[in-house]
Amino acid sequence: MSEQEFKRALGYANSAIDLLKRATIPPYPQFYELLYTYATGVNPTLNARINAIFREGDPAADLAERLYNEFLKAQDANARISNVSERMSARIEAVHDAIDTAMTTANAYSGTLQTASGDLERAIEPQALRAMTTRLLGETRRMQDANHQLEQKLEASREEIADLQRDLDDVRREAMLDPLTKIFNRKYFDEGLVKAFANANTGNGPLCLMLLDIDNFKRFNDTWGHQTGDQVLRLMAMTLKSNIKGKDMVARYGGEEFAAILPQTDLEGAIIVADNIRKAIQAKELLKRSTNEKLGRITASFGVAAFKPGDTPSTLIERADRCLYAAKHAGRNKVVSETELGDEDIVAA
Ligand code: GH3
Ligand code: MG
Ligand code: MG
Repeated sequence: MSEQEFKRALGYANSAIDLLKRATIPPYPQFYELLYTYATGVNPTLNARINAIFREGDPAADLAERLYNEFLKAQDANARISNVSERMSARIEAVHDAIDTAMTTANAYSGTLQTASGDLERAIEPQALRAMTTRLLGETRRMQDANHQLEQKLEASREEIADLQRDLDDVRREAMLDPLTKIFNRKYFDEGLVKAFANANTGNGPLCLMLLDIDNFKRFNDTWGHQTGDQVLRLMAMTLKSNIKGKDMVARYGGEEFAAILPQTDLEGAIIVADNIRKAIQAKELLKRSTNEKLGRITASFGVAAFKPGDTPSTLIERADRCLYAAKHAGRNKVVSETELGDEDIVAA
């Protein structure tokens, strides 16, 4: 860690502690993290919320707790799935109970009707008839109430189940995404590549793979801090996403490495895509929003390889990786495709 980064982090830590003191929020780790994040300014939505709370002058600990849960608490997918399945079981049980109650009421009602029909077969006094009518009316009303309650319970269940469905969809979507950049993660990328291979193997058009790695990113982090580095990774993800088309898939492959699967694209086309992305990245002049500091520009190196019959996902990745290595070797900020791989590069790999 550079001295500059150390000082910056210390500055954030001090302002987090100051804010906690000012608001008399207990400096527990989660609240410290919340206000540290606030001090860095990396999450504008969080900052806007906290500013509003401070303006209203009521920054209580329970508010901090809610904000922490909303913005920072990482709930893992397994915990969320088991929460959804517990709620689902509880719902199903409630529906069963409601149906049981309704059936008991319906059986009792049918018993009452049977008794009444037996009574009617015998001669019956007008007074007894009146009593019976009153009883039947009462029972009918009870039956109607029970039906109404069942309807309400089923309606509530329907809403809850729709809610659960949405939660499950969220969990499923998030399991595919990289939490920092919100593009696909490595796991989903691997699955995507297997599917793309299944297509390419049946002769359904060409397929290319592009790998890219940010140049000298360690130096960038050391100079400007990891948080700013994270912002650059987000920017990189957005640049990638906006430079690909429908069937293509971009993912965060690892730390500062990204990958794109380009179906229906031949090597020549993939080189053009990569070079457009390379230029788009290089063209951005980075500015730190909170301080207006100029951070310069970043560049990336690219390797591009095309599917050949007999390839497996790992042989294709390996060739693209070799190209990427050659691009770094050739001075960075370059696209190298496998047609440019010299013997030297192959030996080096
Ligand atoms: P090269 O041009 O050879 O790729 O140099 P480099 O510095 O980019 O490569 P190196 O592999 O030495 O360092 C990669 C750096 O990427 C190390 C780490 O600081 C940074 N990095 C990896 N993941 C993250 C991340 O999630 N956030 C941030 N801010 N930095 C990351
Ligand atoms: Mg790297
Ligand atoms: Mg790098």
